[in-house]
Amino acid sequence: MRYFPLFADLHGRRVLVVGGGVVAERKVRLLLAAGAQVTVVAPDISPNLEGEVRLPLPRSAGEGGGEGPLRGEDSLTLLHETFRPEHLDGMLLAIAATDDAALNARVAALGRERNVLVNVVDDAEHSAFIVPAIVDRSPLVVAISSGGVAPVLARLVRERIEALLDGSFGALAQLLERWRPRIKTALPDVHARRRFYERVVRGRVGALLRGQDAAGAETALAAELAAQDGRPAIGSVVLVGAGPGDAGLLTLNALRALQEADVVLHDRLVSQEVLDLARRDAEKISVGKAARGHSVSQERIHELMLEHARRGRRVVRLKGGDPFIFGRGGEELQYLRAHDIPFEVVPGITAALACGAYSGIPLTHRDHAQSLRLVTAHCGESIDTLDWAALAQDRQTVALYMGVAGLGTIRREFLAHGRAPGTPVAIVENGSRPEQRVLLATLDDLEAIGRDASVKSPALVIVGEVAALAEDLHWFGSGVRLAPPARGRGQ
Ligand code: SAH
Repeated sequence: MRYFPLFADLHGRRVLVVGGGVVAERKVRLLLAAGAQVTVVAPDISPNLEGEVRLPLPRSAGEGGGEGPLRGEDSLTLLHETFRPEHLDGMLLAIAATDDAALNARVAALGRERNVLVNVVDDAEHSAFIVPAIVDRSPLVVAISSGGVAPVLARLVRERIEALLDGSFGALAQLLERWRPRIKTALPDVHARRRFYERVVRGRVGALLRGQDAAGAETALAAELAAQDGRPAIGSVVLVGAGPGDAGLLTLNALRALQEADVVLHDRLVSQEVLDLARRDAEKISVGKAARGHSVSQERIHELMLEHARRGRRVVRLKGGDPFIFGRGGEELQYLRAHDIPFEVVPGITAALACGAYSGIPLTHRDHAQSLRLVTAHCGESIDTLDWAALAQDRQTVALYMGVAGLGTIRREFLAHGRAPGTPVAIVENGSRPEQRVLLATLDDLEAIGRDASVKSPALVIVGEVAALAEDLHWFGSGVRLAPPARGRGQ
């Protein structure tokens, strides 16, 4: 590590800026925002800098936003003259920001002699300190440096971090700053305090700030603190859609929830790739349900969520696809509401969307289908109650979930209600996963192809003209497999 990273308190400290152009201007603004007393020396000083003298303090330097107080008389001094070594006297730092490389180097050398740290803009070699790229969520500030070697890389990292730290981080840091003395009094033990902060930062308070509810966040913080009398704080549940398998289809909110989780209750359909993104220390509990062998009852899942949340944990209830599409997410939330457990919901990419996209089947198409129906064909329970007459109508796409065991019924009912035997159908098995298979056939062949190819769950059946487009539009995995025509197959 060539440079020592530090955050310096520049309030009231003297800093020299040599140069009066646009580069100098940027540095001066930053320094003033940090409360420094800045002296600018240059024969020509830009009118913008002249204007700075009369401006109020920039926002980030003031207390909690709004227009800050006017800066003191001496916070910015402009010297319209050529740089002289004496200008460095009494300075804590100096920045050389002229377009004269020789002059900049001289300022740096003189600084070294006088023990003043000098930064030469865009010249790491001559600099005694460098100014990092920053992500400002004041009072939280992230500084990034490539040691002046690859500023582009540092900027790239900054962009990523910008995206990661949503705007609520600043608000959260400000809230905690205001509450710090009270928290310290209430929790004199440093370990207890750290645990409290961790819970607050990761939990409900952060969620409320993200949801733009500052007042709610403050109330929640007060409640958390009041609950520190030995009783465990209340946890929360995030109902998260894990998508169909490809971890790239997770939302940023889902990723954050996974990384903040204490406990993850996950279904069988959730891919290992997604589970691997959960916080390493999180307890991962499989509550998977296979098509017939119910390993954990719905009631038990409810109890587990409640038990863990009541112990103050952040529970992620992780479901394949989207939690509100054939995922019993609604029932789980009703249960949580009835027991006063706070929750959030993160939608996921449902199987129909993923299977359509990853097999090259646009679910609607101007020429073929103006509507889309998502249907559960869970054999036994729901398949008999479906409105087949409506499903069999032309110019629509029907995506059937949980239909593997009911391919025969699906075929029979569609045909009985007037859908043409030649209507294209697709079976997408393991959609979006490396082992994805796409089988194309006609409605008449649906049962036979499912049997011949021994299709296994999870698989989605797509009925409608759009299914045939996969032959042309497939792009992912091993392509599509066309079923031979039913007649002449020689069975
Ligand atoms: N909530 C889920 C659906 C749960 S029901 C969602 O929104 O996707 C389970 C059914 O979803 C499976 O029987 C299958 O029909 C479908 N399914 C889920 N993941 C799938 C995948 N990767 N490929 C194909 N079908 C899938």
